[in-house]
Amino acid sequence: MALIDIGANLAHDGFDDDREAVMARAEAAGVTHCVVTGSDRESNARASALAEADPQHLSATAGLHPHHAEDWNTEIAAEMRDLAARNRLVAIGETGLDYFRDISPRDVQKRVFAEQLAMAVDTGLPMFLHQREAHDDFHAILAEHLPDLSRAVVHCFTDSAAALDDYLALGCHIGITGWICDERRGRALFDAVPAIPDDRLLIETDCPYLLPRTIRPKPRSRRNEPAYLPWVRDRVADARNQAPEHVEHVTQANAARFFALPDRLVS
Ligand SMILES: [Zn+2]
Repeated sequence: MALIDIGANLAHDGFDDDREAVMARAEAAGVTHCVVTGSDRESNARASALAEADPQHLSATAGLHPHHAEDWNTEIAAEMRDLAARNRLVAIGETGLDYFRDISPRDVQKRVFAEQLAMAVDTGLPMFLHQREAHDDFHAILAEHLPDLSRAVVHCFTDSAAALDDYLALGCHIGITGWICDERRGRALFDAVPAIPDDRLLIETDCPYLLPRTIRPKPRSRRNEPAYLPWVRDRVADARNQAPEHVEHVTQANAARFFALPDRLVS
């Protein structure tokens, strides 16, 4: 048995001092592979460098997060295409729309999201997607490109049961984080998660963010890390009334298939 963390921001500078220890703890916790999220120019390059240095344990994505959409230019696009040409890039993203924080203007977010969808279609890579408080526009743009896309995951899904139905109808995979471990704001997600078919379910930490609130004993640091993925697995299993081993098995198989990970990485 093994767990795959499909959303780990290990390029984040919060891991600069002890990245090796973090990876050792992940392995000890049964998390055998992490997909390292690229979300801006710097983290794209760092995520790919990390994956190249340790392909057994790490894969990388490259994208421009909606918060940074205003940074989009031909240079970044060319760099992403260059990274996509390398073996270890397993998805385009993180990209999408975020109207919760609204850091980049909405029209820019929409345009840059569409540019990255077109890149995923061109390269044949799946998409790693972020959506917060932007369901209607996000759904419309995604639906337009989806027939030409290989696969898409709505990562860190936290929206309503109705939004979940819409993404499942489009054929999307759904990434569940430790948000589900929050007994207050994660309650609706806990109730919605049983609607996800086994073959569309993925789990992730989104570390260093979203430390699961269910961890016992409570960690001293607020920083989340891949070693805590079992707490997400267990809470998802609880919500779905399934054995943790079952959730582990299906999410590992789904991650391997979704990101086309080499067979040797899958136990
Ligand atoms: Zn995100």
